[in-house]
Amino acid sequence: MRIYNTLARAKQEFKPLNKGAVSLYTCGPTVYNYAHIGNMRTYIFEDLLKRALVLEGFKVSHVMNITDVGHLQSDADSGEDKMERGAAREGKTAWEIAEFYTKAFFDDFHALNCVDPTRICRATEHIEAMIRLVKTLDEKGFAYRISDGLYFDTSKFPAYGALAGKAHIEGLRSGARVEFNGEKRNPSDFALWKFSPAGKKRQMEWPSPWGTGFPGWHIECSAMAMQYLGETLDMHCGGVDHIAVHHTNEIAQSEAATGKPYVRYWVHGEFLVTKDSEKMAKSSGEFLTVPVLAKKGYSPLDYRYLCLGAHYKTQLVFSWDALDFARKSLSNLRALIHAAQEKSRAAGVAGAGNQGWPADHAVRFGAAVADDLNLPKAVAVMWEAAKDKTLPPDQLLAFAAHADSVLGLDLLAPEHKPADGGQAPPEIMELIEARNAARREKNFARADELRKALLEKGVTLRDRPDGTTGWNIV
Ligand code: AMP
Ligand code: ZN
Repeated sequence: MRIYNTLARAKQEFKPLNKGAVSLYTCGPTVYNYAHIGNMRTYIFEDLLKRALVLEGFKVSHVMNITDVGHLQSDADSGEDKMERGAAREGKTAWEIAEFYTKAFFDDFHALNCVDPTRICRATEHIEAMIRLVKTLDEKGFAYRISDGLYFDTSKFPAYGALAGKAHIEGLRSGARVEFNGEKRNPSDFALWKFSPAGKKRQMEWPSPWGTGFPGWHIECSAMAMQYLGETLDMHCGGVDHIAVHHTNEIAQSEAATGKPYVRYWVHGEFLVTKDSEKMAKSSGEFLTVPVLAKKGYSPLDYRYLCLGAHYKTQLVFSWDALDFARKSLSNLRALIHAAQEKSRAAGVAGAGNQGWPADHAVRFGAAVADDLNLPKAVAVMWEAAKDKTLPPDQLLAFAAHADSVLGLDLLAPEHKPADGGQAPPEIMELIEARNAARREKNFARADELRKALLEKGVTLRDRPDGTTGWNIV
């Protein structure tokens, strides 16, 4: 598989450190508000990358963090903590805000068919590991203290900024990208540990050798990534906005601490933008979320399909027309696959001889995926197969299952989620609801009876790990 490595500024052959196994870290959400569909584009891209690695035969250990403390309003260690700000906005505690928006995030993540990471780690549960890492940096002479915290001295790390390139770093160095703080030795220096403001008790704060406070956002990712994946990771992902500051700083502090390369392949996804080429951002007031799309009648997978239409390294311009087109295309693609399912069922045993693998399509699909995740091309191959009248239905179905292991569009089992707006007849919805109630009451005999009753009406059910149930009418 070839992948664009931001560090090398080139497409490279991907070779993990240990044959057959990949360590992957992806920066997770800051849980102070709903994730917008721009954020979700990045998580979809990372999910596709992970599924592609699995298709290539790798075993992937995927760690994703939840930033529930320490991400300040500006990337430059100034402004309020986004969590405490969220708490003030909603009149809740920062801990309640974290819990609420973490759940909201995973609802969207699952609705978009993103596969759960091997491990999800909350920053607030890893404070000790962060303090240990800052201690090492302090002992090695990379840290210095100013009035509001302990900072990393970027001038002591000669390779500082290699990820972002010269132009970016000159911006950082001159202070154009980061707010000026006269106490810092260099404008690009960043906080490792911030002190709680004098005379004020923060909701989230911990004792440390330097004073009571909280970790810097960058140290969180370095500490958790290295704790679970070792000092050198195969792959680390995020959106392009993380290149210049967050990931640049993660590299500096991790490599300064260990003396080893931190990440071998950095892979970054481009932004979802609005028509005027503005990035979709939470600070700009109204923003679109997966539940808002659902309310307007779009399934989360319509949005996933839209994302598949643009290469991850190009900006994707969001428009309702584009989403309408995605919805229609996905529905047409599923209709072709359903037709094949019908034909296969009708053929019964007689059709069995047609099973097998359409080698040509599978090879071209694999080649597109392995070429720097060229999913627009991979989707085009899926379409060719679906429209190929010479392809026996069972072969199309085998190929669609194979392709969908990467695309994640539920091509063979298009599900309707009851929450999506109830397209099923009311008597079916009632039975589904009655079964859910039986399960909640742990009356599994009754739940089983209801499942059977639904099956007789042609409704199949799928219980998801998050407690929701998907359904499909044959
Ligand atoms: P945050 O929760 O703000 O840390 O962002 C979560 C992820 O979304 C990060 O990987 C960001 O790089 C990414 N991101 C933020 N805005 C956009 C956007 N408009 N389009 C795509 N990804 C984005
Ligand atoms: Zn991160």
